Formats: sequence, C-alpha cells, structure tokens
Amino acid sequence: ASKKNAGDPIALPPGTSSEDFKSYIKKAIEVVGEENVTVISDKDELTKENYTDPSKAHDMFHVFDKDYFVSSAVIAPRKVIEVQAIMKLCNEYGIPVWPFSIGRNVGYGGAAPRVPGSIGLDMGRNMNKVIEVSESGAYALVEPGVTYADLYAYLVEHKLDQKLWIDTPDLGGGSVLGNAMERGVGYTPYGDHFMMHCGMEVVLPSGELLRTGMGAMPDPTQPHVEGGSLDEQPGNKCWQLFNYGFGPYNDGIFTQSNLGVVTKMGIWLMVNPGGYQPYLITFPKDSDLPKVVDIIRELRLAMVLQNVPSIRHVLLDAAVLGTKASYSDSDKPLTDEEIDAIAKKLNLGRWNFYGALYGPKPIQDVMWQVVKQTFGSIEGAKFFLPEDVPDKKAVLHIRAKTLQGVPTFDELKWVDWLPNGAHLFFSPISKISGEDATLQYSITKKRVTEAGFDFICTFTVGMREMHHIVCLVFNRNDAGQKERVHKLIRTLIVDCAAHGWGEYRTHLALMDQIAETYNFNDNAQMKLNEKIKNALDPNGILAPGKNGIWPATYNKEAWRL
Ligand code: ADP
Repeated sequence: ASKKNAGDPIALPPGTSSEDFKSYIKKAIEVVGEENVTVISDKDELTKENYTDPSKAHDMFHVFDKDYFVSSAVIAPRKVIEVQAIMKLCNEYGIPVWPFSIGRNVGYGGAAPRVPGSIGLDMGRNMNKVIEVSESGAYALVEPGVTYADLYAYLVEHKLDQKLWIDTPDLGGGSVLGNAMERGVGYTPYGDHFMMHCGMEVVLPSGELLRTGMGAMPDPTQPHVEGGSLDEQPGNKCWQLFNYGFGPYNDGIFTQSNLGVVTKMGIWLMVNPGGYQPYLITFPKDSDLPKVVDIIRELRLAMVLQNVPSIRHVLLDAAVLGTKASYSDSDKPLTDEEIDAIAKKLNLGRWNFYGALYGPKPIQDVMWQVVKQTFGSIEGAKFFLPEDVPDKKAVLHIRAKTLQGVPTFDELKWVDWLPNGAHLFFSPISKISGEDATLQYSITKKRVTEAGFDFICTFTVGMREMHHIVCLVFNRNDAGQKERVHKLIRTLIVDCAAHGWGEYRTHLALMDQIAETYNFNDNAQMKLNEKIKNALDPNGILAPGKNGIWPATYNKEAWRL
C-alpha cells in the first residue's frame, strides 16, 4: 500500500501497472460512460454493510480483512454490446473481470471477486428489464438486474400475480438470473431455479454472443428490430419453452463457472394451482430428526410433498424473532436446556417443518390427511395453520408468503443474532435419510459448538436430497471470532468429505478447498473444467478462481487460500 500511486485503486489487477490501469479505465469510460465506472481507491469507501444496500465492491461478511476480496473498479454496462466491448478490453489488457448481477450473494462473498483487483462487472445496475412475461407460455425472460421483488412487482402491476407465481429464495432482493446461475433454491414446487430456467443469452470471454437451447435457431417469423444489435432481436419462439435444443446441452457450463457472462435468461413461472395452504409442524425433541426425515423422503418421493419444504432448527426461527442477547446473557453456545426453553417460549419445536399444500380444496384435504397421519406418528408433533398463530411476526406467516413465491425480507433479521452480525453458509448435501441427516447434523453441530458458536441450520428438501444449510453467524468486528469461524468452516469441509458429503456452493475463500474434494479419478472433472476454461478463455480474464477453476495464465498453487 505504501507504493500506491495517486489514482490507484486499493488493489490493482494482478500484473497490471498503474499506467495500464489508468489507460484501461479511460477506455472503459469511453464504452460505458463515466457515471458507470467507479474506481475503488480507499478502504474508507467500503462502508456498505447491509443486504438492503449491498456493497458492489467488497465482501460485506468478510472473514479476511474487509479489503482483501475487493474490486479495483466497478463497471456497469448499459447494454449487451458494451459487455462485449468490456470483455475485449479485458483481453487486450489481461485484466480479470468478475461478473455479478446484484451482489446479494451474501454468505458466499456478495459482489466481491475471488482475485483482488479484478474489475467488478455490475450487470444489474443498468440491465434490469423484465423483457417479456408470457401468460400462455408461463415464463419470464429477464435481464441480470431483475430481482425477485422486481419480478413480483411486475406481475402485480400487470395484473398477472393471481395467474402466475414466481419462486423466491428466503430473501427477495437477489437477482433471478444470478441466483439460478449459482443454482440457488426457493420453496415452491419450482424451487430448483436452474431446473426451471429455460434458455440463456451469454457473452463468452472472447466477447462473442451466444444463445443456448432453441435460442441458437434463428426464427424468421419473429419481428425484426430495425437497426438493433443481435442481442436486441427477439429469440426463437420456443427459446423459453424447450431447454435442450439440439446437440450437447451447454447451459450447465455457465453455472457456478467462469465461462460466460449471462445477459438474458428465461425462467418458468408456476401457474396458480387453484388453492394453497401453508402449514407448520413442530417436533419437540432434538432426537426427532431421523423420524422426520424418513417420513419426508417417503412423502416427497410420492409427491405428497409437492414443493421444497424445509426443516428448520429452532434457533433459526428464534434468530428471526430476536437477538441472542434478547434470550440469554450467555456468551457461550446455548445449552440444550436453554434451547428447549426458547422453543417453549416461542411455542415451537426443536425442529420445525414448514410445508404447504397446493391445489383445489378437495385435493388439499386428501393430502392434509396423509400429511397429518404420517407426521402424527411422531410423539408430540403439533400442527399449525397460519390462523392458529396469532403473532403476526411468527415465522409461519413469513413462510406462508415464501412458499407461494411472494418475496419477503423478514428473514434478514437472523444475521443480527450476534452484534455486528455477519454469516457464512456451510452447505453440504445430504441424503433424505434419517440416519445420514442425523449423522451430518451431529458432526457439524459438534464442530460448530466446539468453536464457540450457536448451531443454526435448515434442511431444504429437494427432489431426492436435502441442502443442509448451516448458518455460521459471527461478529465481523471481532478478529478472534473471524479467525475461529474461518478455521471452523475449513474443518467442516474436511469432516464432511470424510463421509462423502460435498457442498453445493460456497464462499470465495473456500472455493479451492471444496473443489479439491470433488476429485474422483485423479481430479478428472477439474481437468475437464480446466481444458474448457483454457479453450474458451485463453487469456484467463473471466473470473479466475471461480469455484476453484483457474486458467493456465494463473499459478493455481500461488493463489490458493
Ligand atoms: P444475487 O443474485 O444473490 O445478488 P449476485 O448478483 O452476487 O447474486 O451473483 C452471484 C454470483 O453469480 C456471482 O458471484 C457470479 O459468480 C454469478 N453471476 C451472477 N450474475 C451473473 C451473470 N450475469 N453472468 C455470469 N455469472 C453471474
């Protein structure tokens, strides 16, 4: 930092001189306009700390120093042709570029890049249109900056919200496109966002424009936009209706990857099923977990459970409703007795299952009977509908919205469990089996508690597996806690790998370590990923290090964290 020249950012792109950086920025300004280029020149500028107004330049929930994962500049293109021009410019200068849509990927690094000094490519600031919602096709075509809240507001404004539902994660402020790229989940029957996407438009690292699936086929019957660039032309009429097109299916390689900047994406919307009933089932004992999970498997596979329900640990709900200090004076992990007391106070179980029934009343009635009867076999299980819970702040009232795709922001609060609360997500995949889930729970809980933190988690139930989301809340102003939480998550990765459990997604700091656990046959998958990376991005400019994939232009060992 002592050698910092006037006008330098906090971190220059690796191998880039002050002069080259200035010259790059000058050219970038010619492309996107001065108002769309921000050089990040001082640590004191990194003031944003909240999801509601997220930083576009650094990781707000930093486990390292706040200015480690930081961009040199944030550039916000206005159009696809400007994205193409920026890619070309990055190739010319050998400067790395990290695309993001909104930067609310909190718990996994937010908008921050893996390589300090990368250009942050803010895809959401200007490119935020809902391009189309088709009522008959039940889909939307969106740009990167469209959030769940935006898409929902669009449906309301166009009086379509009673006909078409979106699927939202726990918080509605993220990008519909960005979340699908990270293979995030929501909670309606359309909860697997990548599964429900249909068709992409992608700018490759070379700057070339691609449309996937049916989008690859020109459609002369579609209207032509006179004088418009290629990306402004309407796509094939089946682009958002059929995912696979012809030949190898390419979409997957643009998710959790560094092979393209996605500029448009189709997403299927769920047609209002004609009836909806959210519910909560509470289970009193910690040891109820295996029974609950085994019942869930049976019902989910039989599609009696029609959506992505979740089993939440009581402390997650407790944290939505209050800080740790509001429940206890303890600065140690809460004991079983203390947790039981909180559950009692909140009229919740140790485990709380939030589900919903979809369809007309007669269908709901039949399903409800099965659900009640099956879960009712667990001693002490209690069933609640929203009208049974008078406290309007209760989590059931929030989930009642989420499970029908209405975006909310209420669950933001659990991060304030500790003062200056920040969080990391540890997210291993589990079988939907009582035995496996319980083993994973006990192993992760032991480590979290040993590290001095409260164990807070939720299991979100997919088609055949569960995403076990362990929420590691820490005080970001407490160096000791940061060090402990960092060490903890590294230990958890090792422990879980020893049982064959891998994470589905991760924070910037852990990408290398987790990628290395997916090492079947001498890292055959990583070798393939690197081959594709080097072929598509020979200069290694696009998101080097993303998900552990390093281009040949970087010394992977030297960059390992
Ligand atoms: P959120 O939607 O939660 O705010 P971000 O916008 O931070 O999430 O995006 C999360 C991650 O997804 C980014 O770090 C990046 O790896 C990937 N991503 C987001 N948008 C794009 C895009 N338009 N093209 C390619 N990758 C993207």
